[in-house]
Parts: sequence; C-alpha cells; structure tokens
Amino acid sequence: MTHPSVSERFAGPSHAGGSRITQLTDLKEHLAHSPPILQVVFDTPMRRCFDYLPAADAPVPRPGERVRVPFGRQRAIGMVVAQADEGAWPRAKLKAVTQSIDTMPLWDEATFRVLRWAADYYHHPLGDVLFGALPKMLREGAAASRDEVVWRLSDAGRESIATGAHLGSRQQALVGMIGEDGAAAPAIAAAGHGAALRVLARRGWLESLTRGAPPPPAGAGRPGPVLTAHQGAAVAAVGDSLGRFGAFLLHGVTGSGKTEVYLRLIERVLESGRGALVLVPEIALTPQLVARFRERLSAPVVALHSSLADGARLEAWRAARSGSAPVVIGTRSAVFTPMPTLGVVVVDEEHDSSYKQQEGFRYSGRDLALMRAQRVGVPAVLGSSTPSLESLANAAAGRYVKLSLPERTGRAGKPRVTVVDLRVNAARDGLSPPAMSAIERHLADRGQVLVFLNRRGYAPTMFCSGCGWMAPCQACDARLTVHLSRARLVCHHCGAEEALPFACPKCGSELAPVGEGTERVETTLKQLFPHEALVRVDRDVIRRRGDMEEALGAVADGSARILLGTQMLTKGHDFPDVTLVVVLAADQGLFGADFRASERLAQQIVQVAGRAGRGDRPGEVLIQTSYPEHPLLKCLITRGYEGFAELALQERRAAGWPPYAHLALLRADSPVRAEVYRFLEEAEAAAPAVRRSRIRILGPAPAAMARRAGRHRAQLLVESPARGELQAFLAAWVDAVAALKPPRALRWSLDVDPAEVD
Ligand code: ADP
Ligand code: ZN
Ligand code: ZN
Repeated sequence: MTHPSVSERFAGPSHAGGSRITQLTDLKEHLAHSPPILQVVFDTPMRRCFDYLPAADAPVPRPGERVRVPFGRQRAIGMVVAQADEGAWPRAKLKAVTQSIDTMPLWDEATFRVLRWAADYYHHPLGDVLFGALPKMLREGAAASRDEVVWRLSDAGRESIATGAHLGSRQQALVGMIGEDGAAAPAIAAAGHGAALRVLARRGWLESLTRGAPPPPAGAGRPGPVLTAHQGAAVAAVGDSLGRFGAFLLHGVTGSGKTEVYLRLIERVLESGRGALVLVPEIALTPQLVARFRERLSAPVVALHSSLADGARLEAWRAARSGSAPVVIGTRSAVFTPMPTLGVVVVDEEHDSSYKQQEGFRYSGRDLALMRAQRVGVPAVLGSSTPSLESLANAAAGRYVKLSLPERTGRAGKPRVTVVDLRVNAARDGLSPPAMSAIERHLADRGQVLVFLNRRGYAPTMFCSGCGWMAPCQACDARLTVHLSRARLVCHHCGAEEALPFACPKCGSELAPVGEGTERVETTLKQLFPHEALVRVDRDVIRRRGDMEEALGAVADGSARILLGTQMLTKGHDFPDVTLVVVLAADQGLFGADFRASERLAQQIVQVAGRAGRGDRPGEVLIQTSYPEHPLLKCLITRGYEGFAELALQERRAAGWPPYAHLALLRADSPVRAEVYRFLEEAEAAAPAVRRSRIRILGPAPAAMARRAGRHRAQLLVESPARGELQAFLAAWVDAVAALKPPRALRWSLDVDPAEVD
C-alpha cells in the first residue's frame, strides 16, 4: 500500500538529491585527504568509543547516524558520534563500516547536543544514553522513517506502452501491478517481479519515488473556554517569549486551569508553524489527557509512553521526527524525541518523582527538558500545584518567571482543612472517631469520600505479642507485609512471599497483624458502611490496563461513594463530587531518612486534598496525625504549600541540602558486605586530588535499607556548594572508579542530583 502525503518528493533511483550533493562533497574530500575516522559507540554501558573507517564508495556517515560494523567476531549496530582526523590506532588497523543504516542523523542538532551534554553531566556512557533514547525497534536497526521507495511508470514508459511496445508476460504483470498509483519496492520484490523491474528501470520506463508515511490524524480543533484573567496573563507572559528561551514556573492548584494554559500556548505555537513537547508524569498519561489534547488542537498529536507496543512507539517517534505530528505528549523519555520545529516545552506536575530515572542512565526528564528548551531557544513552562522546592528557589532567585493561578475554575472555594490528633482520638483499624463521623456525615449528604493511605496490603507487620518477633524478609532489612486476602506475607522491596504463619516460629504464641494498609481499611469501611459501594485503588487491585478506568468510572457515575487508595489516586484524576478527603497516616514522611521526605509528604497531602470540592460543593479535608505539633505539618496546614515551602527551604539552607548544595551519590551493592565497603573505600581513595577544597565526600555509609534482595548496599555521598566544581571533580573521578576492578558480583552506579539519598 502507498499513501499520498505532504512529504512526497521525487528522488533518484537510490538517493535523495540532498544526499547526492553530500556524496559529491565527500568524494572531493576523499580525493583531497584521507577519509575521516569515525568514532562509534554501542548499545552497551561501555565508557569508550571505537574507531572505524567509512565504507569505501559510500557517503560518510555523520554523527547521529547508525551503522553496522564488525565488532569482535560479530557485527553490531553502532552509532557514529564524531568524525576525527586522527585516532589512537593506525588507519591500517581499523575496520570499515559494513553498512550505513541511516541517510541522515536520527536527531535534530539541538537534541543531539542535549543528549551528548546529558552523557557528560550525568557521567554516563554515551552509547547507553544514545541507544537508550531510542525506541526499541530503532535500537535493533529498524528504519528511522517510514519513507518507502515506490516505482511508477515514467513518461517514456507510458508512451512506449501506449504505442504498443512489446512486453514479456512478467513485465506485463509488473506493469499491471504498478498501475496508476505505483507499487512499493518490497511488494514488487515479494511478488517475484524483481528481474522485470530491473529490466524496465534500466530502459528508463520506470522511475522511483520516495513517499512518506501518512501523518497521524489531525485533532478536532474545538475552541476552548474564555480564559480567566490569570490564565490570560500566563499565556501572554509565555507567549511574549516565543522564539527565545525563558523558564516559567506555572503554579496553580489542581483545577485552576493549567492544562488550559498549555493548550492555549500550544495553539499559538502551532499557528506559527512550530510544535510542542509536553511531558507528563508516568501515571498521569491517561487516555483522557491525550483525548483532551486531540479534541482541542487541530494538529496531529502523538503520545509516547512505556505501555505502547514497540511498533506503535516507533510510529509515534517517526511521526514526531518527520514533523507530521507537531505535538508530542509523553513521559520522561519523550524528552529525547527528535522534533524538527520545536516551539515550546511543557513539563506538567514538574515536582513529580517519576521524572527522575532511578536506574541505568539516572537523568531528570524535567531538567533535560529545560536544557533542551534552552538549546533550541524556546520557552519552557513548568507547571505544578505543588512545585518542587528547587523550582521555587529558582523562581525566587529570578531564574524562572513565576506565574500563578490562584483560583479554581469551578465555583467551590478552598477546602477546609482540619487536623485530627491521634494521641487523643485513638484510631480503630486506621480510622479515628472524628474521621468516622465525618465520613458518615458526608455520605448522608450524598457526597463522595476519598480515603488516602499510602500503604497497601492488610498490615505492615505480623507481630508476636509473646516475644516481640516480627516477620522479617529473609533477603532484605525489612518486615514482611501481611496480605490477608491471599493469606500471604509479602516483601514490598524484593517481592519474596511466604504463607501466613499460624503461630510465632520463635515461641509458639499467637500472632497478630499490627498497623494498617488499604486492605485492612477497606474491611473497616465495609463494616462501618455496609450499604455503600467502595472502590479501592492500589497496585494490588489495579493490575491490568482497564482496571483503573473501571474504578474511576464507578466513581464518576456515582455508583461508588467511597474511594480508598494509595498515591495512585493523588495524581491527575478528577473526582468532582468528592466532598471529603481523609488522610489516614500523615506521619510517614515526617521522619523519613531522606531529605526530601517532608517535601514529598506535603506534596501528597496538597495533591490529595486538591481532589475535594472540585465541583460546586466546597470540600473538607481531615488529616490524621500523631504529630500535630510538627513545625512543617503545622506550617503546611496554617500557611498552605507556599508557607511550607518557605520553611522547608530555610531548613535545607541551614542543613546544606539541595538546592543550596549539589550532590552526587556513588552507590554499590553486592551479596558480600565486605566487598561493598572495600570498593567504596577504594573509590574514595581514588578520588582525584584536584580541586578538592570545596568537595566533601561522606561515607561509606549503609543505605537506609542496608540489605535488599540479598544484596548489601552502601554509598558515598559527594557534596559541593558549586555545581561546576562538583562536575569537574566527577569527570575525573568516574574514570578512576571505572578503572577499579571490583569482584564480578559487585554493582555500582553514579547518581548525579539524586532524587533520594537514603
Ligand atoms: P489543571 O490542569 O490546573 O488541573 P484544567 O486546565 O484541567 O486545570 O482545568 C480544570 C477544569 O476547568 C477543566 O474541566 C477545564 O476544562 C476547566 N477550565 C479551565 N479553564 C477554564 C476557563 N477559563 N473557563 C471555564 N472552564 C475552564
Ligand atoms: Zn513469639
Ligand atoms: Zn525482601
């Protein structure tokens, strides 16, 4: 099948006109000098390039193009990252490229530069960065564009046939297949007409043509609502910056109309003939969001996220790269999508921890989105109802322009927040008496109730009252969680499971589950309100695609009036009829080992509280805590998120944590504890002496969970008040660390700007 398309263009039998010119220039260079040496990286975490020569009689591949090359005894797909005049080896020892896969670089220049910068900044092997930025099928050698070569009759061929020139039977069959529309080269070959094709092409009766894939369907382009004054001001501020870099922090409570601001900006960008990259957190990429963009925008929109099938992901990537889909909505890794005419970058819920990749190439999608906007020279909009402390500090320092949407677009006002002191209101199976009566009251008023508990399972511990034994995980420094409905004990860190014990293995006494998770609270709520339908949302019940839609559907149509769940509930979803939000265990984050624990807790509370009263009914929020006097919690409740952020930033400054210091973490783990510490001590000893004055190395220290899945874990924390100095230090250090020879079972990684340091 072939499709007519805007990108249809004539091409010579094998190359487009453009590359033929390149070829000529290359040929001239070839005659003048020797060909350049190609530096090639592979889809592995190796920290080095390999030198190759270009293939003879072929265009010299440019940086960002894939090539097949001999590698050891095999052939591998590599990526050219640079051309050089000289290499470390004599030319005679170099092997040549076997085949070029691409005819042009995979990325536009700015994006390719961002990728190289990211490999430097995160001190991660370039090959892993570049190949990791590609859809799987491209890593495996698929074509970067869906352009296909199509054969059709030339004028000469048409005339000859019209005037009755003789055609053999096979040639006749081929001409029949080609017809008026032409036929694709692979289809011709598959039909066994290859030989006839060659004969007729040589005679000049057939000509070839390159045709692009059809563009994705355009959106509906429905007009949006009239903007509020604050929305209008935000759109105008960013709109004035189109065409040059600027960073904007759009702070607006949930439902204040941030998405509408993005849409309006993107409309303007599209009118100017450019496109938009929109990053969203992993969990928020619901079909509803993409549908909303498709409805409002008239240009094709593609989505890029982890649950796409490989083929669909490749198609979306191709559509973005060719420009046929000028709007890309995607999760973290979509920041690497090539886009020829980027006009604005949006990062929604910029505080979300899913923007930081926690394994392999540990980058921040949000930070790279900003870097990309800067390199391309377009504005970046970071939106959030609970901005990260880093972003608030950047705004305070004048590096970001802060835009606020203080009001909700619905009629209901701010929810009323009350604290329930668990020391005087003892909870039964998780629920305090004031929480129970509030739930009862709201249900009687025909409201919906959301109960938030960020802990799944029935209970976090199985406890022996006889001797104090608590069921431990054999492989982790952690307790097993009770899953009563499945009669199992499960480790939430390594996945280990065992049958629920009947009696204490130490003393034979009876065991009891202590504490509560969502499963237990569900039981409690069902006992208290047996006639109300309840929907539970956590990873134990939402397992397949569609489960979430079904759960949300029951809430949306009002058939379920109690909604209970973990943080899966706090993001992105709209519950307009929820009038009461109850936060069951607000204390979990107050004393966390990580310096970001209180920030995360405040964000969760504000996010989940933001689900209350979005329609025309005002909301009520109850927060259960045993520490109502905790200064951060108190500040959050009395002064709101901004007040909290101010206080929390003061604490960070006093303690020398980010954004007032810059961090990197060298982590190591191994089944053998001594190996971990030996390696980290060697790494510390290998630290270059240069510029150490403002670099501090702390550790080795055990990780907060010192053993997980049978591996001992420890780390070195590197800290500096100056980012540049930290970078210079890391650049030298990582080579020294990579040169160490730890035992095979030891794994290590360097994490620059770690999201967590515990
Ligand atoms: P946010 O992204 O901040 O959560 P949204 O942009 O999703 O907010 O807006 C919340 C709701 O209000 C949506 O249903 C949206 O259609 C509606 N909305 C947004 N802006 C306006 C406006 N100016 N007038 C009327 N409704 C609006
Ligand atoms: Zn016991
Ligand atoms: Zn475990």
